[in-house]
Amino acid sequence: MSQQGYVAAPPYSQAQPGMGGYQGGFGAAPAQPLYGHYGGPPQSFNAPPPGMVKSPVSAAAGMPPPPVSSPYNSNVQQNGAHPQRYPPSPAASAPYSQPPHSVYNNMASSATQQLTNQMTSMNLGSYASGPMQSPPPPTSSVAQQPFQTPPPGMGQQPMHPSPQSTRMLSPPQSPSASMSMGGPLMGGPPMAGQSMGGPPMVGQSMGGPPMAGQSMGSPPMAGQSMGSPPMAGQSMGGPQMAGMGTAFPGSPPPGPGGFLQPGSGLTGPQQAGQFGGHMSGPQPGFPGAFPGAPGGLAGPPQKKLDPDSIPGITQVIVEDRAKFGGQIFSTNIRGQVPPLITTDFTVQDQGNASPRFIRCTTYSLPCTADLAKQCQVPLASIIKPFASLPKNEAPLYVVNHGDTGPVRCNRCKAYMCPYMQFIDGGRRYQCGFCNCVNEVPVFYFQHLDHMCRRVDFYERPELSLGSYEFVATLDYCKNNKPPNPPAFIFMIDVSYNNIKSGLVKLICDELKTLLEKLPREEGAESSAIKVGFVTYNKVLHFYNVKSSLAQPQMMVVSDTAEMFVPLLDGFLVNYQDSRAVIYNLLDQIPDMFADTNESETVFAPVIQAGVEAFKAAECSGKLFIFHSSMPTAEAPGKLKNRDDKKLVNTDKEKILFQPQKGVYEQLSKDCVTQGCCVDLFLFPSQYLDLATMADVCSHTGGSVYKYNNFQVETDGEHFLRDLRKDVQKNIGFDGIMRVRTSTGFRATDFFGAVHMNNTTDIEMAAVDCDKAVTVEFKHDDTLSEDTGALLQCALLYTTISGQRRLRIHNLSLNCSSQLSELYKSCETDSLINFFAKSAYRAVLNQPIKNLREILVNQTAHMLACYRKNCASPSAASQLILPDSMKVFPVYMNSLMKTAPLVGSTELPTDDRTHQRLSVMAMGVEDTQLLLYPRLLPLHNMDVSSEGVPAPVRCSEERLTDSGTFLLENGNSMFLWLGQASPPDLIQNLFNVPSLAHLQGNTSSLPELDNPLSKKVRSIISDLLDKRPNSMKLQIVRQRDKPEMMFRQFLVEDKGLHGGASYMDFLCYVHREIRQLLT
Ligand SMILES: [Zn+2]
Repeated sequence: MSQQGYVAAPPYSQAQPGMGGYQGGFGAAPAQPLYGHYGGPPQSFNAPPPGMVKSPVSAAAGMPPPPVSSPYNSNVQQNGAHPQRYPPSPAASAPYSQPPHSVYNNMASSATQQLTNQMTSMNLGSYASGPMQSPPPPTSSVAQQPFQTPPPGMGQQPMHPSPQSTRMLSPPQSPSASMSMGGPLMGGPPMAGQSMGGPPMVGQSMGGPPMAGQSMGSPPMAGQSMGSPPMAGQSMGGPQMAGMGTAFPGSPPPGPGGFLQPGSGLTGPQQAGQFGGHMSGPQPGFPGAFPGAPGGLAGPPQKKLDPDSIPGITQVIVEDRAKFGGQIFSTNIRGQVPPLITTDFTVQDQGNASPRFIRCTTYSLPCTADLAKQCQVPLASIIKPFASLPKNEAPLYVVNHGDTGPVRCNRCKAYMCPYMQFIDGGRRYQCGFCNCVNEVPVFYFQHLDHMCRRVDFYERPELSLGSYEFVATLDYCKNNKPPNPPAFIFMIDVSYNNIKSGLVKLICDELKTLLEKLPREEGAESSAIKVGFVTYNKVLHFYNVKSSLAQPQMMVVSDTAEMFVPLLDGFLVNYQDSRAVIYNLLDQIPDMFADTNESETVFAPVIQAGVEAFKAAECSGKLFIFHSSMPTAEAPGKLKNRDDKKLVNTDKEKILFQPQKGVYEQLSKDCVTQGCCVDLFLFPSQYLDLATMADVCSHTGGSVYKYNNFQVETDGEHFLRDLRKDVQKNIGFDGIMRVRTSTGFRATDFFGAVHMNNTTDIEMAAVDCDKAVTVEFKHDDTLSEDTGALLQCALLYTTISGQRRLRIHNLSLNCSSQLSELYKSCETDSLINFFAKSAYRAVLNQPIKNLREILVNQTAHMLACYRKNCASPSAASQLILPDSMKVFPVYMNSLMKTAPLVGSTELPTDDRTHQRLSVMAMGVEDTQLLLYPRLLPLHNMDVSSEGVPAPVRCSEERLTDSGTFLLENGNSMFLWLGQASPPDLIQNLFNVPSLAHLQGNTSSLPELDNPLSKKVRSIISDLLDKRPNSMKLQIVRQRDKPEMMFRQFLVEDKGLHGGASYMDFLCYVHREIRQLLT
């Protein structure tokens, strides 16, 4: 093995082609920072007050809960009796001006551990020579993922280890050959009896027989172990990584990658780039490359790297839970990194918004644009303005200043908040955002205490809390009129298929009970939301359900080109008043169309009708559209099949994701203007151009649900769960949100199911508790370590009862001129949310292979910058990861294997689009789960305990023949049963004697009276309650065909449709990092 990896690295070279993050890659370069955005240079703050004085002010009744000292801030000096310290201004605040040395930070900080050297055993080292030869790697009975390759018909035979093909890496100079890190790593011994394809095809492996002397591996370094004391940076790997480098002669980027998978990489030109190219996956001629499926190339028994040695998400989750689970997180410290999104903790608002509302990619911004550019860590916040709060956390206080409305800075219009500093005896205040000094309105005057804090500090949420609401005055209402309560219109496609499948009846029956549960204002007896009903196929039917009618009346509009609403009075009604007529209608609808043979539908006119109805009623609201086919009837917005798999993996692939413009574009604008949100429930049996049909949803805060080949018996309950959740969601309408920042940086880009009419106002026809907007920030100027960076997110919206309100979320971040502070304060879950959204948006404009390249490059760049600037010196061969980002590569690799980015012709275009659009509106919790599913072992859990078993890593290796696992990612849920599952377990769960007796498409568990059955069903039902969407439980037996579906969620393994294993990816990234550092 070559020693060259140990050679001292030449100076760090920053400029790498294609490294420019999004600049170079994701389309148009971002506009230059606009200096002086806030007009004029930042003014200096007044000197901090001489010192915080203990001045307990008792909290008024009904006010925020008594301060509780944070378990997280023990190291921070307390300056008063109150842990709750909101400095009059950030500048003046002692606690805010010193970087928090919280437990968090400490933990996240220098906590760089030297991971060892397990990479060593990864050892591709059969060619390594001499002393570097590695000892036999740890082996386990669990199989490695086998090679994925072609040979058809090789189905069920066990793999034959072939000494020959072992660790063949790529032959050197051949580009296509150099791609092979995947090989050796993945070729572990097959599980006994597992079908992984036939005999290894040597020639097909990674480029042929290895060339002597080319070793990728190297021996582990004795004494280096994972558990070694933390050093700066987490280091993985060792010399063998050096060896890896040698396996990729020639370098990098657009070049042939070290990343292609055996069998796949060699087939076509498009596979040439490591990430740019199609990464493995089913190639033409290699259908279904999938372990366990026919077509696996048998790999030789491999020495393998102990997977436990590389950073794992489950471990990170478990550790964070152990540290912070069940504790209180007080938001009184600037720049404090919250516990992970996967940890259950209680938030106490003490001056900054709860992480449930805002999470950030880093809680310490670099002071300068140069530093930001240097590290390439995106600076972004993920804002979920309507996030649900657990019952033990106080709902937001509503502040009512009567006719005068909220107090705002004259210059930047920021709302009164804890970051305003009162001066001049309380007569004036200095804005924390723009530094402007404002007069305090007379009605708002209050004296200051010794700490220069208003004596009513604890009585006013807007002075002491991070999040609260203001009642908006008429100035904030359309036409200066108070809004009407919003309305829900249910619009049901009654064409032939929907009637025949029983869907229409299912919906009508459900609405009878569901409408009783419309969301209502806290304390209100009934919901103020009005309801209306439309059915349609080629024409639209409106219903008059006025309470005074004995029978509902139908009005038909067949002129779909000029949509209008034929009735005003009686169309949108109060459900309570019209219950009898509505019941009557819902009973009649399925019968009315029972004999229909109309199979064509319109679509755009349906949405148009909804908008017109809201316009006429002067209200906002939501359309619930239940639709099953492409709208082909002659009408505006008529669509035709434009699906074209030939575009996949070409520069024109983006066309598949782009919506048709014209009618739908205008419709989106109309909807947003009217505050009309569109939720789409799709029941397709084939392609229906979801990109276009769902376009309106994706701009109006809507959701898209999709049930392929819907059948009432197997999918009915799944759909109804979604519908129930959707109707009952906490939601606001006709919203407009603005994110203000303190001087020096500003929001520049926005990702979400929103509409941007200009560069600052985020228009949201509706926003519910699961929708998040990701906001990216750029520097305008230099940020100050003393004052930090402040955000204020203000959302003006209409409540479900028709009140106009302003919801305010404030957050203060640290700033540092040390990159180490930034890395310490990074949040991987948020970073990956940002990357997912930015890449998914870029899919509309760029070939996905470019995107993958950019993602990998930026990953390498962020980590290389850490290595260069923050980590303590170590061998170049070691992979050093910042503790806060140690599992970032797992997520990134998983992201690149998601349907929108994978470029496989096997994935339906509509499915890819659906995922793309769903993710654009997701918050951190949802993207985390989507990109790293929860895999829970159920076979050895304690059925009497309350808890849920700890998740295991998403890899085939974690499965066992006799095991039972539950996997879920927020969209899909599987119960996987090993082929050797004990009969009593099967009996207890399914009431059948063995696996063989299980019905093919079982999708639910029978209610059996035994502890295991109860426990499993309760775990499943808790998960279903917790997630925003329903998931259909799919039961798969090991080695059955449907198991393929399940395996694509084992994201640490090689992708089913292409994409590297985590281990390979890590090695590849490491190589890229090393190149950046040389
Ligand atoms: Zn201001």
